[in-house]
Amino acid sequence: MEGSEAAKAANKMLFVKTIKEIKQIIKNWRKEGLSIALVPTMGYLHEGHLSLIKKAASENDRVIVSVFVNPTQFGPNEDLDNYPSDIERDKKLCESAGASLVFNPEVSEMYYDNACTVVSVKNLTSMLCGASRPGHFDGVCTVVSKLFNITTPDKAYFGEKDAQQLAVIKRMVRDLNFDVEIIGCPIIREQDGLAKSSRNTYLSDKERKAATVLSRSLNKAKEALSKGEKDVSVIKKIIIDEINTEPLAKIDYVEIVDSLSLSEVSKIETPVLIAIAVFFGKTRLIDNFTWDNN
Ligand code: AMP
Repeated sequence: MEGSEAAKAANKMLFVKTIKEIKQIIKNWRKEGLSIALVPTMGYLHEGHLSLIKKAASENDRVIVSVFVNPTQFGPNEDLDNYPSDIERDKKLCESAGASLVFNPEVSEMYYDNACTVVSVKNLTSMLCGASRPGHFDGVCTVVSKLFNITTPDKAYFGEKDAQQLAVIKRMVRDLNFDVEIIGCPIIREQDGLAKSSRNTYLSDKERKAATVLSRSLNKAKEALSKGEKDVSVIKKIIIDEINTEPLAKIDYVEIVDSLSLSEVSKIETPVLIAIAVFFGKTRLIDNFTWDNN
């Protein structure tokens, strides 16, 4: 075993609720010269989250998984109060995936009652999920900034499942000179193609079956793209028509945007992000892929 792996094996995973305690632990890790990764999550972990933790564990000496259902990224009519949680199960999963520490603060630990500061990334947040969820990315960027300041990670891991979030965080890190490398990780799917999500647990059996239309519609678009189709409206129509074959699906958006600026494109030339959000009953699910002609 390598030195750092032996140290990892000897250390039982830590569970920390306060900022003061985690800062002290990180100070000690830094004294030992250890590299530190952060995997921010809202808990109720599944294999998508675990893929991030495993990758982080393979590339860093210590991995912090934050489990925090961040109230500031939920709109007034969203699922904050019902968001699924099982911290004991999460702790076991984190440990088995190679995490060194689970950080699970209370809301009152993370936010001062009279907090006045919000981190807002302009331009990249007015479209896609930002259009349907006003204020969502301000909440995400503020909490991620706080987590970066609290944990000072060398690397932080985010899923491509939340493609807009990944683009927004990368831009925020660049614009604000955060000293952290952002690593994007591929989407982990169920066998039938549905992207894994904590929100899949909300679906009834019928909705769960219907939700396979998400990946199916994107696969149809991929097929057309690989045959050379470059017209945005044609690709959008393929996706919309496929989703509309499913009576339980209600489209929130189907968008094709530049993968970096997230601005609309009329032709598929630069790498594009093809992103969709669809309601099944009250549950809103997202999926996407990035297409690069070159
Ligand atoms: P969440 O707990 O939903 O906030 O997700 C925490 C992190 O896990 C985010 O960076 C997500 O993009 C990532 N993630 C969630 N689902 C998946 C998935 N199916 N595949 C890969 N990453 C995912």
